Amino acid sequence: MTDSLLLTIIIVAVIAVVAIAVIAFVAKGRKPKTPYTSERDADDSPSSAAGTEPGETPAAGQSPDGTVLTEEPPVEPAAPAAPALDVPEPVQGRLARLRARLTKSNNMFSKGLLALLSQDSIDEDVWEEIEETLLLADLGTEPALELVDALRERVKIEGSRDPLKVKAMLREELLKLVDPTLDRSYLPEPHADRPSIIMVVGVNGVGKTTTIGKLARVLVAEDKDVLLGAADTFRAAAAEQLATWGDRVGVPTVRSHIDGADPASVAFEAVSAGIDQEVDIVMIDTAGRLQNKVGLMDELGKIKRVVEKKAAIDEVLLVLDATTGQNGLAQAKVFSEVVNVSGIVLTKLDGTAKGGIVVAIQRQLGVPVKLVGLGEGPDDLAPFDPEAFVDALLEG
Ligand code: GDP
Repeated sequence: MTDSLLLTIIIVAVIAVVAIAVIAFVAKGRKPKTPYTSERDADDSPSSAAGTEPGETPAAGQSPDGTVLTEEPPVEPAAPAAPALDVPEPVQGRLARLRARLTKSNNMFSKGLLALLSQDSIDEDVWEEIEETLLLADLGTEPALELVDALRERVKIEGSRDPLKVKAMLREELLKLVDPTLDRSYLPEPHADRPSIIMVVGVNGVGKTTTIGKLARVLVAEDKDVLLGAADTFRAAAAEQLATWGDRVGVPTVRSHIDGADPASVAFEAVSAGIDQEVDIVMIDTAGRLQNKVGLMDELGKIKRVVEKKAAIDEVLLVLDATTGQNGLAQAKVFSEVVNVSGIVLTKLDGTAKGGIVVAIQRQLGVPVKLVGLGEGPDDLAPFDPEAFVDALLEG
């Protein structure tokens, strides 16, 4: 009995030792479960395997690995990003671009004039040629004759041989014609209790809507709160075009979605909204159908009357296409009979236009050119500066 007990104890002890050895062996051969690490996230997660960005959901068909997803925080759908607004170019120095753009059309003007004026002796034929060059530059008859007279007088006294002196003389006389004393400010006087109102008029196609869009950007660059009124309800796409310009710089547009809506009521709504929203400037686009002068007069007159129930119009800008030359002058006359034009925007000076048209138009209307359009780009509108303009003419 004692022997069998001893044998049993020995067997149990051996079994216990073997069992411990087996357990120890098995435990050693097993790898512990790898914890979920950020490195693994980068290498193995379904989203990074597919090259998706943070915030994006895995592509369809990618069966996400349950382990990974349960250990990741739930992905919130990204809020739709607000469209980034354009940052308009600074206004200063824009007219410098005119120099390059006038090069083609005015090369003959400056080079030809300077060559003629620098001759040893200027006889009648040469003076006639000078006058012709000025007329070809669209200066207009009266200003051209005035300039020739002034130059004749000065050449008589100062001579003509020194090209530098001649250039300075021409510059001075041209500047007098462009008239640096006129008020060319395009920012209306601010009012304490209401926005300033700018009404923009001109024949369809001259670049009116584009100009308002560009001017809105200029005003935004000058830190003004602007609101647009799409009262050109005649041309179906005009309101959409205007709103698109505004959207790019965060400027709201009041418009009617009904084709042919009453332009005066759109203008009224725009001014009311501008007052409610306490903006600095409300700019109103209008339609310009010249075929019927009485209709035009009625329409613009009604807009003016209705708007002025809310606020006086501070500025009426007439937009003219510089490439239309004398035709533009005729349009300008009609508009100035209908509304009280306070400033001119001369568009398309980047094209084939001759620079002299600036002088001719100002003379004809007695109203200053305040802004010039230098291309179709959003920032191709420059405040008009007589000195920079004359320099551009002479160096073109
Ligand atoms: P609206 O009918 O008077 O409103 O004329 P739009 O604003 O629709 O412009 C008519 C066309 O003239 C468009 O193709 C404009 O891009 C273009 N335009 C406007 N201003 C300028 C400018 O200064 N230079 C050039 N080259 N094109 C311009």
